[in-house]
Amino acid sequence: MTQLELAREGIISPQMRLVAQREGVEAEFIQQSIARGTIVIPANTRHTNLVPCGIGQGLKTKVNASIGTSSDFGTIDTELEKLTVAIDSGADTVMDLSTGGDISAIRQAIIISSSLPIGTVPIYQVGIDAIDRHGAIVKMTVDDLFKVIEEHARDGVDFITVHCGVTQSAIARLKKQRRVADVVSRGGAFLIGWMLHNECENPLYEYYDRLLEIARESDVTLSLGDGMRPGSLADATDRAQVEELLIIGELVNRAQQAGVQVMVEGPGHLPLNQIETNVRLQKTICKGAPFYVLGPLVTDIAAGYDHITGAIGGAIAAAAGTDFLCYVTPAEHLSLPDPEDVRQGVIASRIAAHTGDIVKGVKGAQEWDMKMSIARKRLDWEEQARLSLDPERSRQVHNKHASAGAACSMCGEFCAMALMEKFLGISAPRGF
Ligand code: SF4
Repeated sequence: MTQLELAREGIISPQMRLVAQREGVEAEFIQQSIARGTIVIPANTRHTNLVPCGIGQGLKTKVNASIGTSSDFGTIDTELEKLTVAIDSGADTVMDLSTGGDISAIRQAIIISSSLPIGTVPIYQVGIDAIDRHGAIVKMTVDDLFKVIEEHARDGVDFITVHCGVTQSAIARLKKQRRVADVVSRGGAFLIGWMLHNECENPLYEYYDRLLEIARESDVTLSLGDGMRPGSLADATDRAQVEELLIIGELVNRAQQAGVQVMVEGPGHLPLNQIETNVRLQKTICKGAPFYVLGPLVTDIAAGYDHITGAIGGAIAAAAGTDFLCYVTPAEHLSLPDPEDVRQGVIASRIAAHTGDIVKGVKGAQEWDMKMSIARKRLDWEEQARLSLDPERSRQVHNKHASAGAACSMCGEFCAMALMEKFLGISAPRGF
């Protein structure tokens, strides 16, 4: 049985219990939320070394790090190195988006090495196999597609991005819309090319029940991909994007009825003042299903710094109720990320997620900040490092310039914290 089927039967699984412990909430809350479809636990029954992670309403905002090879660069070793960096930096999940080398071997190595939930986008491998075997993506067959999805499920992938909402009706809207950046989703582009060439409906939509059967068998969580996500601020929240979301809303219902856990992916490039609207739209149309956004990126012009662009958008999105942030690295739009890009991307997204959690009132979020403020007031540098998202960097920066006293080198002997303690005669609070 899937976690959703168990939850509906009123059963609290070991995975639900563990997620409850990690989040500091009641196990019944997890079970009831999974039954309602507002929380998922991506946990393929074949991913044996998995430590389950809950995603959804009432839980900490989670962060995904996407790694993987491209046709230009990457091997099993480079991707395992990125996996280690992602885990050490505090990512909650990892997606393997490999499109180069031995894709199956890379995926299998990542799953075996990861206690974090692993996600994939099977259409990438289907498209690349079709080029190898038949000379073109448009030559893939429906069976090719489902065979690869089955392979990913068999390998232990915990969640898969499937662009089921890219239908002929969404393409018609896209054509009428006349976007600036058209489609920037790789999976969406593969499928649209295939559908237009073959004059067929999207097989992931037409044979959705077949997909549900595969997902149900190993309890693979579906992440309904946004093939129409805007890749330019000019295209944000347009008719093509909304058309796809309406279709996805129906598919969420069908997945849940079939006992399959499901979440929904979202934009993309969005002006800051459209983020909350997008979150509300998704939450309303998809009946509270967990929302997973890429960024969002709040401007198009920050190449080289898009981890910051994504963190600004991610903070607003998380505060508005988004459950899951896909990180953006400084390499976004420019190149395949290296391990340092992965580290910076995870940290930036974790800042965004935590910022949102303070607003959401997630258990422990505000207390964490309070502890840091007290450590700052006490000039307790080791405690500040320990409480930092990146303790090593905190120590490194603090030790850059020596200070004569207990303060840091920023104000030295004119440290406001120390002066106020002296003038007010009030010590910093001890503990919290
Ligand atoms: S020296 Fe300045 S920056 Fe450093 S702890 Fe004191 S007040 Fe803060």
